[in-house]
Amino acid sequence: MLQVKQLTFSYNDTPVLKDLSFQVKPGEHLSIIGESGSGKSTLLKVLYGEYDSLKGTIFWKEEEILGPKHNLVIGYNFMKYVAQEFDLMPFISVEENIGKFLSNFYPEEKQKRVAELIKVVELENVAKTKVKLLSGGQKQRVALARALAKQPEIILLDEPFSHIDNFKKQSLRRSVFKYLKENNIACVVATHDKEDVLGYADKMLVLNNHKIAVNNTPEYLYKNPETPLIAAFFGEFNVINNEIIYAHQIQVVEKSELKATVKHSYFKGNYYLVESIVDTKVVLFKSKEAFSLDTNVCLKISK
Ligand code: ADP
Ligand code: MG
Repeated sequence: MLQVKQLTFSYNDTPVLKDLSFQVKPGEHLSIIGESGSGKSTLLKVLYGEYDSLKGTIFWKEEEILGPKHNLVIGYNFMKYVAQEFDLMPFISVEENIGKFLSNFYPEEKQKRVAELIKVVELENVAKTKVKLLSGGQKQRVALARALAKQPEIILLDEPFSHIDNFKKQSLRRSVFKYLKENNIACVVATHDKEDVLGYADKMLVLNNHKIAVNNTPEYLYKNPETPLIAAFFGEFNVINNEIIYAHQIQVVEKSELKATVKHSYFKGNYYLVESIVDTKVVLFKSKEAFSLDTNVCLKISK
């Protein structure tokens, strides 16, 4: 189990991470979310032992994770880290990059392992291609496969699908997260994309003001968004009478006290997001149909 206790870190005078405590069990998936600059990448780097913490401890099972002050070489065999900026070997192929740290002693096993990982990250068609010729998204997938090559017990992923286009993202996400679960590899995933979290993460930790705002299951936090920050992560919402109401919790009805005037209908695929005005305030709701400008509608909130 990853055990983080009262972790505090700063690059200079102002702390970036203040007094963080949390755990990740073997095979568990923890998402770290928070606004840009909230310290997600920093947290992963400190967990990996890239920096010395100011205070607190980090353990994986019995082993304490220590920073460069205590370790000549950064990192541990049981833990892998895929940074937001990945460094690969540009002049060798995808296969060779992924197999880079695997032993050549059993060439057949090595080949099988590399082929398996290439399948997980869906790079079969460029296996023999030199990495320098790949797109950013393809490189990101090579970095991911290389980190998995030696079967770590825990992997730290920093926005792992950020460079990957939408055509590929969904299936790749399923493939990678399924692989991690099947192989009981714990993962800590920094992300600002709810699609990386919903359906995959066991827990979701929200960083805000250098601290852990909440740490709970995505389902619980979705149903009980305590703050606008949490609600905003999941989608469009309103604050009505100090209560957070998601756009999908408001419907158009025949008659009600809540009267709105439509200002815009945004096509969103299987629904429209409608921007309306109630008194002087903007209210967003989802609707099957679009409404033209200044249509008057009655709304009902159903939580
Ligand atoms: P996130 O990944 O959530 O966007 P970061 O961990 O990258 O956030 O950054 C957190 C804060 O630490 C930001 O204020 C950022 O400017 C600062 N920071 C990040 N890296 C460094 C560094 N190497 N030196 C000094 N400050 C840094
Ligand atoms: Mg970051």
